[in-house]
Amino acid sequence: MDREFGQQLIDHLQAGIILLDQEGRVLAWNAWMVRHSRLTFSEVVTRRLDEVFPEMQHTRLQDAIEQALRFRLSSMLAPGLNAAVLPLDHQPGDRRLARRMQPLIYVTPMRHAQYTCLIQIQDMTAMVRRERRLRAQSTQLIATTYRDALTGVGNRRRLDHDLAAIFGDAQNKQHSLALLMIDIDDFKAYNDCLGHPKGDECLILVATALQEGLRQRGDCVSRYGGEEFALPLPETDRDLACSIAERLRLLVEGLGLPHPASRVGQLITVSIGVSAMVPVGEQSPSDLIGQADQALYQAKDEGRNRCVYFGADPHAVPLCPHPLGPIAVSSSRR
Ligand code: GH3
Ligand code: MG
Ligand code: MG
Repeated sequence: MDREFGQQLIDHLQAGIILLDQEGRVLAWNAWMVRHSRLTFSEVVTRRLDEVFPEMQHTRLQDAIEQALRFRLSSMLAPGLNAAVLPLDHQPGDRRLARRMQPLIYVTPMRHAQYTCLIQIQDMTAMVRRERRLRAQSTQLIATTYRDALTGVGNRRRLDHDLAAIFGDAQNKQHSLALLMIDIDDFKAYNDCLGHPKGDECLILVATALQEGLRQRGDCVSRYGGEEFALPLPETDRDLACSIAERLRLLVEGLGLPHPASRVGQLITVSIGVSAMVPVGEQSPSDLIGQADQALYQAKDEGRNRCVYFGADPHAVPLCPHPLGPIAVSSSRR
């Protein structure tokens, strides 16, 4: 194969081809390289590649070339990491890496008197972008499967997932976890009086307020179903759980949402059942849910707009009198 035919051949390739001599100087540069670098062969020939592209100094590409020249080792440099290494398809003045070509680069030593290192470059930009788009879509999709469509807080799947994780952790480390079951008071009457669209708005406002109220702690409230929310609390004992519950109860009352048909007062309020445990033996997350649920029923029985801790002595004084209001600590065991 003569030299001219060889050049024609590499000029027809849909990939960049660069040949270097033992000193790393350019000996061949195909048409693809001219198109994508905007540098002609005469502008690069006999220059070291790291002079042509100063960006590649101290990069993996420079290391790979050195390894090919000195130790006859091959390398493959994956796209994604190398957009900054070779300024291909690069508009002058545009520093946004995301707009640059994402090259897949093969560096191969060659057994030839003159040519000692072959560099092949493939444009993987479309594939990399498609992959990024798919990854973003998949992250979004996963987030959607854990979000309640109406209120935007977690859904039942999120609760099951979080509670299982927090319960397992508490079991392993033998520390306390807690659960709050939060239920809007007289919500059926609210719907009956103002209509379901207003009911939906109210659910959104309450859910958002609960989640915002927990932002500092990073806990995640989930919609258990209907007008009921659940909040699993890691590394939380009874006292802390009761004080968080009371803070949330007051937060909802403090929204000042009028409830024209409430038996409790004139505003939207919630009742909260609280349970906490250091899991032992056969206990499971459903035990914690059952206890919080029982405490919630007790809160409803006792008049609503209150927090009740599961299993407390019914005659005891409040466990941790809250400066902002009472926590009814009464037994929910019947
Ligand atoms: P309590 O104080 O004992 O909890 O009484 P309640 O009326 O809140 O409880 P009940 O279980 O009798 O009624 C719950 C109501 O919540 C019934 C239903 O109309 C309403 N609800 C449940 N899910 C939704 C929803 O997605 N949107 C709206 N607008 N209402 C809902
Ligand atoms: Mg209710
Ligand atoms: Mg309910």
